[in-house]
Amino acid sequence: MNDQGIENPGSRENLVEARDLKKWFPIQTGLLERLMARRVEHVHAVDGVSFNIRKGEVLGLAGESGSGKTTTGKLVIRLEEPTEGTVHFDGQDLGALKSEELRKMRRRMQVIFQDPMASLNPRMTIGEAIQHPLQIHFPKEASSHKEMIYDICDKVGLTPPQFFVDKYPHQVSGGQRQRVVIARALVTHPDLVLADEPIAMADVSVRALLLDLMIDLKNELNLTYLFITHDLATAKYICDRIGIMYLGRLVEIGDLRDVYSNPLNPYTHALLAAVPVPNPHHRRTETMPSGEIPDAINPPKGCRFHPRCTYAQASCSEVEPELRELKPGHFVACHYAEQFL
Ligand code: SF4
Repeated sequence: MNDQGIENPGSRENLVEARDLKKWFPIQTGLLERLMARRVEHVHAVDGVSFNIRKGEVLGLAGESGSGKTTTGKLVIRLEEPTEGTVHFDGQDLGALKSEELRKMRRRMQVIFQDPMASLNPRMTIGEAIQHPLQIHFPKEASSHKEMIYDICDKVGLTPPQFFVDKYPHQVSGGQRQRVVIARALVTHPDLVLADEPIAMADVSVRALLLDLMIDLKNELNLTYLFITHDLATAKYICDRIGIMYLGRLVEIGDLRDVYSNPLNPYTHALLAAVPVPNPHHRRTETMPSGEIPDAINPPKGCRFHPRCTYAQASCSEVEPELRELKPGHFVACHYAEQFL
């Protein structure tokens, strides 16, 4: 093991190997300010993140808004260029691929976005929306497109397909729209699916159905998911492993059951304690950390969580903790994590 929270580096079991990923966004300012400024400031959205995604697993990335989880997901499938760091997908360095090679690789990495209304073109029928990736990745198999569209509609529960393919997104329910987005992501038979808050916009009554559908499709189609969520209750339902992010850094990663039953980072502790419990007699003993997530332009020195951490000690504001393996496969970034073992 090493200090980066990377199990089995180079293992054939890993579909994705992300190493020291950083994404810094320059802050847009006016010309005069740029001329006067000695240096350009950056938002450190992702600031040195390493992890693997094993073939066939669901790896969750969770954290508050501004933690960098969505940007990390986009870096993994190269929807964003990293400022630094590498991503190997099935052994190939995505940063070394030429544009045509990357285009071909994209068939194997698809996305389910959060808001189906925003991600579907209102002027395209559902059939046209699902066919769009087929036109990009399988243009020579045009005669098979209809069969492929009907097949994936059947799989995601848009049945009978002929009832849906000529409709427009606004003519179906919110749950059905999310099934269309899932169908569009899976019609090219990808290996990895980035699911970015995939049920957040769905009605509460259909969320469990959509998660069950995603689990069934993963098993049937041998998929691997990178599941981005702010909701640890949802992550518990679907994820095999979970990584907790805070202000651009991974603060804990491990098997979901292990992390949930024995969180080793105070931030994870607080997030889990804030998950609603369906029991009117349950009394909370902990609350969410007070205050807002700090500014990602100038992250706090030392442990980034120290201004909000109730366990912080003097060294926490000086030395940034690295991820350490405290239990097999369970990594944590906290100087004083041993007290939670
Ligand atoms: Fe809290 Fe210090 Fe651990 Fe950071 S390193 S989580 S401030 S105890």
